[in-house]
Amino acid sequence: MAPYVRISAGFWGNHPHLPLLEHFSTIGAAIRADDLPFVNSFAQLPPDLYTRLQPTPLPAPYFVAASARAASLVGLDVATLQQSDMVAAFSGNAVPGKALPLSAVYSGHQFGVWAGQLGDGRAMLLGELPGPQGRMELQLKGAGLTPYSRMGDGRAVLRSSIREFLCSEAMAALGVPTTRALVITGSQQGVARETIETASVVTRIAPSFVRFGSFEHWYHRDQPAQLKVLADYVLANFYPELLTEANPYQALLAEVTRRTARMIAHWQAVGFMHGVMNTDNMSILGLTLDYGPFGFMEAFNPGHICNHTDQQGRYSYANQPQVGHWNCYALGQALLPLIGEVDEVEAALDVYRPAFSAELLRLLQAKLGLTTTEPGDQDLFDAMFAAMQRSHVDFTQFFRALGELKLDEPAGDTLLRDMFIDRDAFDAWAARYRTRLRQENSVDAARRAAMHAVNPKYVLRNYLAQVAIEQAQQGDFSEVARLLAVLEHPFDEQPEHAAYAALPPDWARHLEVSCSS
Ligand code: AMP
Ligand code: MG
Repeated sequence: MAPYVRISAGFWGNHPHLPLLEHFSTIGAAIRADDLPFVNSFAQLPPDLYTRLQPTPLPAPYFVAASARAASLVGLDVATLQQSDMVAAFSGNAVPGKALPLSAVYSGHQFGVWAGQLGDGRAMLLGELPGPQGRMELQLKGAGLTPYSRMGDGRAVLRSSIREFLCSEAMAALGVPTTRALVITGSQQGVARETIETASVVTRIAPSFVRFGSFEHWYHRDQPAQLKVLADYVLANFYPELLTEANPYQALLAEVTRRTARMIAHWQAVGFMHGVMNTDNMSILGLTLDYGPFGFMEAFNPGHICNHTDQQGRYSYANQPQVGHWNCYALGQALLPLIGEVDEVEAALDVYRPAFSAELLRLLQAKLGLTTTEPGDQDLFDAMFAAMQRSHVDFTQFFRALGELKLDEPAGDTLLRDMFIDRDAFDAWAARYRTRLRQENSVDAARRAAMHAVNPKYVLRNYLAQVAIEQAQQGDFSEVARLLAVLEHPFDEQPEHAAYAALPPDWARHLEVSCSS
């Protein structure tokens, strides 16, 4: 029997009071926004790393949606987030008593070109709240102008906030490292994009929102003291285990490189395309960050470009792994003054390829229900993707249906087979796949369960988001909540929600998403 800990009857009564848990005890007693136990460790850093400021209020803000799962990370719940004081706090209309709002400065490479200073142009950090997984930063996005707004208006629109909110939570449920989304508030204030839309604020959660570009900023300004302050802050708070390494800065680069490689392997495995993998959108914690013109692969095409603005296809599905590596090089360049030698930087960056390959192999094996590694596996994957591409097979539906394949019943492959224009290509591949499965004595029921636990039935297809957005723009937020609930259980059959697993309808075939947000 597994060892277990018996909690004695007197445990709760006798246990010393833990200050960290203080605010949890107030749950049920209606926490007020002003009592939220914010601390802000980033605000303790030298002031050239950020600007302290106040959000700009919005007229008559209202609650749009909240994530119960994200709320639990900071000891909150959805009902609390609907309180008027919380709506005021998370629309930027009333800064909670203990919060110290600030916007951080960073720079970055955009589409491969050095863009110089950027920064939180519409994001404001309120501070950190304690929770079961440690302290989490809460950041308002769309709360008004900052010193880094450049030509922007400091606002986000309801459309983009809903997309970021739903995708953050969907990715978390898929097991992909990501920042989280707590709550969306809205206002009837108009915001000019291609058309006039309405303003909205999405509150995001992550242990830190520091980006690769935060480091590039000080490197390119030739200010090594600030570079070191930032690196030491990140090491001490998020990578303390690396502080005892011979060269902690090199160890930091290697670990960020490893996490980035693994994150992108996850993207490839679920068919996620970020759309704007600029270095200012790369998290120092290896989290998917800044959801804009993202997409999930539908008809499989490795060259697919999800961002209409990306005409060269720099951030196409197939390019993501390379770009991730490139971005780590940009970070390595920025950390060079701290690491010391170019060789040491390169040694850390060499982590990328093996980490990416090993993780993608692991994920693809799991997607195909393979439990062993055989020499021909790479060929098997390549042949599968080639056949999927030729027949424009839907990425999500294919892997989900593949889990239903019966080893000894090729005649039962109808559903899978019908996904392929080139049925012979599917039959040839399926024969190879069956031979491979027999090699490891695969059992149908066990394989099906394992595959369904990694191949989602439900992903955030653009058309699903679009339906929820259009209803929300008419004042009905119920579809946002419904879609969130479906996406929180992507691997469950949810037969009552099967319509959410359908291919895009005709009207949505040519939906385009751009950087406009
Ligand atoms: P993104 O492409 O969303 O990662 O944004 C790139 C940069 O532009 C970041 O520094 C953003 O803060 C800034 N930005 C984007 N949209 C706006 C906006 N509406 N107002 C101010 N700054 C913005
Ligand atoms: Mg960004």
